[in-house]
Amino acid sequence: MPVDPRFGAWCAECGWNVDPGAAEPEPGRIDALRRRLARRHGQHLLAEMTEDEAARPRRDASGVLAHTIALAVHGSTVALAVAGALLVVLGWSTVSQPVIGVVLILLAIALRPRFASLPDDAPVLHRTDAPRLFALVDEVAAAVGTTGVHAVVIGPEANASVGLVGVRQRRVLYLGLALWEVLTPQQRVALLGHELGHYAHGDLRHAKIVGSALRSLALWCYVLAPAQSPTFLERLGNVLLLVPRGLAHCLLMLLDRLTMQASQRAEYLADRAAARAASTEAVAELLDRLLLIDSVEMELRRESVLAQTGIGGRSRSDAGQGLWERLADHVGSVPEREYERLRRASTARGHSVDTTHPPTHARRQCVSEGKHQPALVRFDDNTPAEIAAELAAPRTRVARQVIRDYAG
Ligand SMILES: [Zn+2]
Repeated sequence: MPVDPRFGAWCAECGWNVDPGAAEPEPGRIDALRRRLARRHGQHLLAEMTEDEAARPRRDASGVLAHTIALAVHGSTVALAVAGALLVVLGWSTVSQPVIGVVLILLAIALRPRFASLPDDAPVLHRTDAPRLFALVDEVAAAVGTTGVHAVVIGPEANASVGLVGVRQRRVLYLGLALWEVLTPQQRVALLGHELGHYAHGDLRHAKIVGSALRSLALWCYVLAPAQSPTFLERLGNVLLLVPRGLAHCLLMLLDRLTMQASQRAEYLADRAAARAASTEAVAELLDRLLLIDSVEMELRRESVLAQTGIGGRSRSDAGQGLWERLADHVGSVPEREYERLRRASTARGHSVDTTHPPTHARRQCVSEGKHQPALVRFDDNTPAEIAAELAAPRTRVARQVIRDYAG
């Protein structure tokens, strides 16, 4: 059994210690049933996506139902506002009706969908700040059948995502350097292909409608929650609100579950878009890298602790220097045996109950077993260095942030 002191020991023959961090399953029959259902749905979806080469970004039944419930929730908010306005206008001569009307209008305002905005505490790049990066994003976007983004936000996370901001719903790409910096150029194309694939498939519009409905329902549950140590009148109110409260809770749970199922399908399709842009191999490699996220975050914490305690002779002021290069070296030195352990651990954990992403081994299997795709977009030799130069200032700023914040 070869042992690398940086990683845990495990046995490839009997599977001993493959997944030492695995959580014990929750006891109880309901949780066991939820796990069984999640596993069944996960396996069913994986089989469907692997077999159906031509799977389109249409919504499956759970997606359509989630969309319908979400629209109904938003419809009820509009109805609330209209009812409030009517009470104010038509009941003007009375005292109570305008008061109730105003309360309803205020409630509708609280329940309305909101627009996200660009962060003001993170580096935000526009086209003129990073023309080469934006050109690459455009090229990958064209390969997956969509257009580029308005801004790129740089953060420290080992993650990337896309979003929509402002009233005009402009596209924003969030790039976490702890992921971007540990990828090879072609794996970065795969990452961009996956994220932009979500735009191409309309996942963001769907997520926006459903996400804001989930928030509205959570607020309903809060508003309708029974009073603690109630008076007689409040007790009466608690009983009267039993049905709407139960309805809000049920809808919240149902929508949450449906959303998870629909978004797992969207992830498989985004991986497929990524394979078209960057090649099947690049996506499989990217998914392997995603298995290392915990290890990458631990490495950043270690760097931060070393700098803050002065162990290793590195002072806090220059600890950010070369951070991303050291992180990339760390990831580059991970032996194939550790990847193999992580793949087996992912397989052993299987399809979990409450995640929006399918397990990594399933995504890898779906991509690898599909039709082999050559790369439409290739990073040429100069581009990675040009993009690194454009990212120089955010890299330094975010490295300092990691050293400052990650030890806690
Ligand atoms: Zn995704």
